[in-house]
Amino acid sequence: MSKVIVDFKRCKGCFLCTSVCPKGVLIPSTQLGPKGFEIVQQDEEKECIGCGACYKMCPDYCIEITD
Ligand code: SF4
Ligand code: SF4
Repeated sequence: MSKVIVDFKRCKGCFLCTSVCPKGVLIPSTQLGPKGFEIVQQDEEKECIGCGACYKMCPDYCIEITD
């Protein structure tokens, strides 16, 4: 199973990544990022398939996908 890592310092909470994830892995976080934006987090109960859609969509290069 892949794991997605979000750079919380750079995320601006546009949620473009959540809109393209086919597995619903990325969800709004209950916490704000250091810049005061809402940010995303990984729903640990959902399975990331490593498709890369979120990585390609993020305009700020916040996302890293690992195996
Ligand atoms: S790599 Fe694919 S499945 Fe995994 S979080 Fe990103 S969009 Fe969702
Ligand atoms: S697309 Fe990038 S900047 Fe926008 S919410 Fe997702 S990780 Fe944050």
